[in-house]
Amino acid sequence: MNKTTTKSTVLLKHHLKALKLPTVHDECERIARRCAADNADHLAFLLQLCELELIERERRAAARRLKAARFPTTKTLDEFDFAARASLNKPLVLELLKGEYLERRENILLVGPSGTGKTHLATALGMAACAQGRKVRFVRVTELLTLLLEARDERQLLRYRQQLAKLDLLILDELGYVPASKAGAELLFDVIATAYERYSLLVTTNLPFEHWTEVLGSERLTGAALDRLTHRCHILETTGESYRLKDAKRRRQRTG
Ligand code: ADP
Ligand code: MG
Repeated sequence: MNKTTTKSTVLLKHHLKALKLPTVHDECERIARRCAADNADHLAFLLQLCELELIERERRAAARRLKAARFPTTKTLDEFDFAARASLNKPLVLELLKGEYLERRENILLVGPSGTGKTHLATALGMAACAQGRKVRFVRVTELLTLLLEARDERQLLRYRQQLAKLDLLILDELGYVPASKAGAELLFDVIATAYERYSLLVTTNLPFEHWTEVLGSERLTGAALDRLTHRCHILETTGESYRLKDAKRRRQRTG
């Protein structure tokens, strides 16, 4: 390499950093060599670099979205055994996987007993939405209540609510395992009311509707929450035996 190329390369790299084009910065010399060998013209060279930058940018954004969503585990529908959950509306699950409900700000309610795959399905749907470029947040209801009460005490409630308002999908897992305090119920209602027609909610619960008052305390609040949640809502029911239990039994049979 002669002196001028070195000097211009250093300058180029400096500019690429300033322009925030890290992939072009890292790859330009390799691609330049390849294009020279292939006799590709300048525009073809530029195109290749731009494509690499875009791909890498999208990959980083996807990784960021996935991290921000805070899924408890990685679950996909490929790992979901639909045959083991015959009562579940599979065509609806596959339709929801496409994510069009998010554009229409529709909600999803996953109702069923413990161990029937609600969290699995919620995670799989959430991860699919994430991959489609949506902003998703997964949170257990008890965890959300703690966060909201903390935010309120630190006078950060407005900021926290503004953060939630940026979402496309908020997954509220495990509504109903623990009854909320009065303050908690009001904050939870506030989340549901704010989400209404702004972004989609996916709620998983082991509680049939008639028992929701046990969580939210008052009839009035429960009625208003259910009204908003179930207006334009897809309901998926997972009935039957716990998959955890069945899995444990199967293992025992195999070893015993
Ligand atoms: P829930 O949230 O309804 O209590 P989970 O989604 O946590 O149930 O399911 C419990 C465990 O069983 C998880 O590890 C989940 O991946 C697995 N599981 C549940 N249903 C199925 C299924 N139909 N196919 C494959 N794995 C399942
Ligand atoms: Mg669960």
